[in-house]
Amino acid sequence: MNITKEIKQVAIVTGSSRGIGAAVAERLANDGFAVVINYAGSATEAEELAAKIEKNGGHALPLQADVSDPSAVAAMFAKTEEVFGGVDVLVNNAGIMALSSIAETDDASVDRQIDINFKGSFNTMREAARRLRQGGRIVNFSSSVVGMLQPTYGVYAGTKAAIEALTSILAKELRGRNITVNAIAPGPTATALFLNGKPQEVIDRLSKLAPLERLGQPADIAAAVAFLVDPDGAWINGQVLRANGGII
Ligand code: NAP
Repeated sequence: MNITKEIKQVAIVTGSSRGIGAAVAERLANDGFAVVINYAGSATEAEELAAKIEKNGGHALPLQADVSDPSAVAAMFAKTEEVFGGVDVLVNNAGIMALSSIAETDDASVDRQIDINFKGSFNTMREAARRLRQGGRIVNFSSSVVGMLQPTYGVYAGTKAAIEALTSILAKELRGRNITVNAIAPGPTATALFLNGKPQEVIDRLSKLAPLERLGQPADIAAAVAFLVDPDGAWINGQVLRANGGII
């Protein structure tokens, strides 16, 4: 049966064509949010996910916007307000990872990770700070590598450490609007970002690092996001939640 749900709240999930973001968008849609499926290049995946959500009675709008482009981010918020009437939740999930020792990292890799991970999250946070409705939620994406600090993760971990700093500061700046700002810091999670380019023995070793002895799944992370944006998560503010099976 296809029953169209009433739109209660509206969530933008950046980078939700694939991986963790797609699981978050699907989970929030099931929980009653109208969701914007933001993507940079994966239009087909974003449209397929939106169609699946709509088929299940939810509301989903695929929107292309490179988060590193401030004007594209502003246009995405404007379009969301036009279609769904406002924005309540920003899930700042879009991100990339390039691993290399600091000695071997080239300028292009540094710039790209800063542009997408740091400036991209900054662009959407700034827009959300200006436009989110009273009572809204912002969930940023850090990573447990900020605690693990392994070799080759230097630039990536640096961009994510900056997200943790922005999270605490924005939570304070939004005083008086009943908006919470938190960050999720996943450990190794079974997506292209983690799996691509790693030999099987490295994947096997990292899978066993956490005391729960498995990789995280996108749905594990989506459940943590769902808690933070739910009324049950209302008292959590300015925090970093490491969702990683106990790896650190
Ligand atoms: P993923 O599978 O590689 O998916 C990345 C998503 O981000 C895709 O939907 C991609 O869309 C989108 N994206 C990339 N660049 C973008 C841009 N400039 N503008 C808009 N969207 C963009 O990655 P993931 O593993 O799900 O990671 C999601 C988040 O979790 C990231 O912030 C990552 O750093 C963090 N994280 C992941 C892990 C892990 O082990 N997987 C661990 C800790 C933290 P297109 O395909 O359209 O480019």
